Amino acid sequence: MKFYNPVPGHGPTKIADTFGPGVRPGGHTGWDFRCPTFTPVVASAPGYVYEAGFLNVDCGWGVRVNSDGWPISYCHFTDGEVRVNVGDLVDYQTVLGLSGESGNAVYPHLHASWENPSGVKIDPATILEGEGWIRDGWVDPRDLSLRHNQWVLRKRGYYSGTLDGLWGPLTEQAVRDFQGTVSIARSGELDAVTLAVLYGRGKWSRRPGG
Ligand SMILES: [Zn+2]
Repeated sequence: MKFYNPVPGHGPTKIADTFGPGVRPGGHTGWDFRCPTFTPVVASAPGYVYEAGFLNVDCGWGVRVNSDGWPISYCHFTDGEVRVNVGDLVDYQTVLGLSGESGNAVYPHLHASWENPSGVKIDPATILEGEGWIRDGWVDPRDLSLRHNQWVLRKRGYYSGTLDGLWGPLTEQAVRDFQGTVSIARSGELDAVTLAVLYGRGKWSRRPGG
């Protein structure tokens, strides 16, 4: 069985996460492929659909396909944008749905995970084939949604409001507090300098192996 990138042309993000220990408790068992909302998500391998729709609060809307004993999960589709039904047979390139940020996602991406027939989650870097993916894809913080920035500020202890993606006094104060802590101008704006410090330029621009 060969496995291909479910969102051809898009690669794993460097912020959150590739496979392994990372920013999440318990590590990360798949890959987050950064891609714009409504990107068609295609089957990584042929198989049959055994779950489709709203899967759970983490995955949100998505699909699970059994590919020759390998359960593959595709998560965070746009609400309602699932294109297959339980029991459907899919082939390479069959569109499963449209990407988004439903469930526990704070910016548009596809979370996908591959489990071998023994139930062990496999690092996609070791099995994905073909040219349609970018190993060193990385995210420019200027492209991230305000919702994602609120999430990062909250993780760092500066923001206690909701992740609503709306600019308000709580968000502005969080930015100001962060700027004060790292000794840059307390403008209260997510300007280029603030974003570069918030995301740690060295971290998110790093290339694999570098
Ligand atoms: Zn993920």
